Amino acid sequence: METNTKDHSHSMRSTTRQAHIHDLAIVGLGPVGLEAASASNALGLDVIGFEATKVGGHVDQWGQVRLFSPFELNAGPAGEQVLINAAKTLPEPDEIMTGATFLNNYLQPLADQLSGSVALLEGVRVLAVGRQGWLKHEGIDSSARATQPFRILVEENGNEREVLARSVFDCSGTYGRPNWAGGSGIPARGERQMRNKIEYHVPDPTHRNRDKFESSRTLLIGGGHSAATTALALAELAIEEPKTSFVWATRGGGGTQLHPLTNDPLRERAKLVDQIRDLRTNLPSGSEWLTQAQLVAVWAEGQGIGVEVAVNGDIRRDRFDHIVANVGYEPDDTIYRQLQIHECYASRGPMNLATTLLAASGDGPTDCLSHDGLGKDTIQNPESGFFILGAKSFGKNSSFLMRTGYGQVSAALSLIVSELHFTK
Ligand SMILES: Cc1cc2nc3c(=O)[nH]c(=O)nc-3n(C[C@H](O)[C@H](O)[C@H](O)COP(=O)(O)OP(=O)(O)OC[C@H]3O[C@@H](n4cnc5c(N)ncnc54)[C@H](O)[C@@H]3O)c2cc1C
Repeated sequence: METNTKDHSHSMRSTTRQAHIHDLAIVGLGPVGLEAASASNALGLDVIGFEATKVGGHVDQWGQVRLFSPFELNAGPAGEQVLINAAKTLPEPDEIMTGATFLNNYLQPLADQLSGSVALLEGVRVLAVGRQGWLKHEGIDSSARATQPFRILVEENGNEREVLARSVFDCSGTYGRPNWAGGSGIPARGERQMRNKIEYHVPDPTHRNRDKFESSRTLLIGGGHSAATTALALAELAIEEPKTSFVWATRGGGGTQLHPLTNDPLRERAKLVDQIRDLRTNLPSGSEWLTQAQLVAVWAEGQGIGVEVAVNGDIRRDRFDHIVANVGYEPDDTIYRQLQIHECYASRGPMNLATTLLAASGDGPTDCLSHDGLGKDTIQNPESGFFILGAKSFGKNSSFLMRTGYGQVSAALSLIVSELHFTK
């Protein structure tokens, strides 16, 4: 785009060229960003989409994981329509895919199809978004602030440039911002220095990362779905290659945060809970499951990693070849730090949505299928025209389903089209 940087040196003496202003800029081209691109393009908006890596970059990272929702819940209505219009064959509605097949059979074909009419830029990272002419603390509730476009600083191959847009959908997910593995959510002693030696994402020990995990000893930390997925994969590897072992450290007394739902309609999710229950009584030889455990300290020890883990209050020292910390993710707020975003003090998601989710759950877990139709007000921020959508909108709350994100896209588009400063 967009802003003509070459003009800057002449701006004192010549007339600056009017920079182009897009109707909508989308940050992140995962499932929700692509649905936003499909739906906004269908409405005839002037859209630009930025993806830091490649389309579905986060999904690709956990490509070996089986989705627990069937294809009919994972395809967005607008995206599906794009493929139907192009006479593409869609997967069966009840098909359970891995992340990789979902990417190859839905997200990538969708992006390919859209690229004829929408600017979807891969390898372009959004660094920061501000409101033209206004600082964060200025113009609270001011309609004058809302009429100004967003200034978006993007980086591509080390070069920075600026893009203007009337509205922004931040669909950048949370997978890129893992939590710390130490107790209480802060780094364990030494964890900051060892961050590059710890795997914070869901690895693929039986295939892609087999060389790394085979015949080695791993400490796995975490008690949610991702950690459970990793535990099952490590157990499978340990059965295939008995010199492999792992110690699974979970925080809760009961072991994991996985709770069976009565007649769970998502059979893959129910299956995971059953498999974990079986694993508890059938751990591969040499492997252990520690409950009420938390990482206290971590350091380099020869080729391996030394750790101190508190188990029921007692300190245990050990040494591992690898640490996998599947302890959840949180939103990166650097993009919108200069905007007026009301963030929840507990989940770090946008406040309106966080309040609604909290009210629905009390203090306990909820079924992610219950989050449909959350309402337009839940996605609105004090900063008019800026929307945090998709997995990022749930903040630290991991009960997000793509289907919820697709509903958010439709709600946000109806808001920008009806209310926004679309005075062109
Ligand atoms: C292992 C796993 C399994 C899951 N299984 C399911 C399931 O079965 N069903 C379901 O409904 N949900 C599932 N989810 C939850 C959720 O639906 C997915 O995480 C989904 O990918 C979220 O989509 P998204 O578009 O919001 O974000 P993401 O898929 O995280 O996409 C965000 C994109 O933004 C890009 N990005 C990040 N920062 C920037 C930046 N600054 N500038 C530009 N681009 C940026 C990233 O590279 C990425 O491509 C699962 C999640 C995980 C981690």
